[in-house]
Amino acid sequence: MKSWEENIRRVVPYVPGEQPKKDKLIKLNTNENPYPPSPKVLDSIKDSSLYERLRLYPDPAASMLVQAIAAYQGLTPDRVFVGVGSDDVLAMAYLTFFNSGKPVFFPDITYSFYDVWADLFRIPYETKALDGNFCIVKEDYYGENGGVIFPNPNAPTGLLMPLDEMEDIIAHNQDVIVIIDEAYIDFGGISARSLLDRYENLLVVQTFSKSRSMAGMRIGYAMGSDKLIKALNDVKYSFNSYTMDQPTILWGTASVEDEGYFRETVTRIIDTREWFKSEMRELGFHFPDSKANFIFASHESIPARAIFEEARKEDIYVRYFAKPRIDNYLRITIGTREEMETFLSFLKRFIAAF
Ligand code: PMP
Repeated sequence: MKSWEENIRRVVPYVPGEQPKKDKLIKLNTNENPYPPSPKVLDSIKDSSLYERLRLYPDPAASMLVQAIAAYQGLTPDRVFVGVGSDDVLAMAYLTFFNSGKPVFFPDITYSFYDVWADLFRIPYETKALDGNFCIVKEDYYGENGGVIFPNPNAPTGLLMPLDEMEDIIAHNQDVIVIIDEAYIDFGGISARSLLDRYENLLVVQTFSKSRSMAGMRIGYAMGSDKLIKALNDVKYSFNSYTMDQPTILWGTASVEDEGYFRETVTRIIDTREWFKSEMRELGFHFPDSKANFIFASHESIPARAIFEEARKEDIYVRYFAKPRIDNYLRITIGTREEMETFLSFLKRFIAAF
């Protein structure tokens, strides 16, 4: 090995779900929203003055978007930080807050980016096993640590932690930063947002990628005390001042301002999820009671991998993780009712023939 090669930062990257380049397929593998973004976003896309403004740098503070999110969440703008999807916000939070040299705690079965960022930034970490029902055991997070992060609802299980349990974890960890990743909170969960005034070490992260149908736009944000938000901004401005481009700022703001459309599409997904759960139970699947826009299901007799591979042949994509404890489960995103009906009829055929 040449000596320059020894100094390359080597990482095993996160592997996102497939984005197949096909027109006709049923895509239930990356928890995208099956409905388009708000029509108000389309109106602002048609705004021709944006074209003129593209020659200028965008507002580095993305103030318009920050103010819209702050107003929506009932916070002052100095308590909101925006980034290029919540992945960017979370990565920035790792860099900003997890510097004690002590291990950061997160669940063993969770969003598979958490250990990747820890490795990238050389942050030690310790995973805490979920219990036999895939629940987070709050007492596991009481010990000395360098920070805590978990999603609520957890991914890929979809299980929601009640507010009092979350508060218990935060209350036991007031010397470190606790990050609650609420990528899926709008599909039936209660946000930790209400705890922000009591805990200045709490950071709550949300995204436009799921409930606002804007995964392609890349908008995520963090809410916290003004001290945490300032620290995040200082790190961001030391890395790249212009993370949010001009169209994103404008179109993201239009989305936040359309509360009615947001509620309507989220409700539709929740209704489809609950109907889909009952259909899946009848087919012999079991799953944790998801409050997200996906379910994490295992069949009583047919291996998950076999279903995953056969569905793929029919251009139906779901997510399969070949990992210990979860390698007999499929994570199935809730699409439109029609998409779920097609998937169910595939399953009925496959199960009958197996
Ligand atoms: N957190 C969790 C738990 C997720 O599942 C995802 C989606 N992959 C993200 C964060 C990141 O989403 P985005 O960067 O699109 O906001």
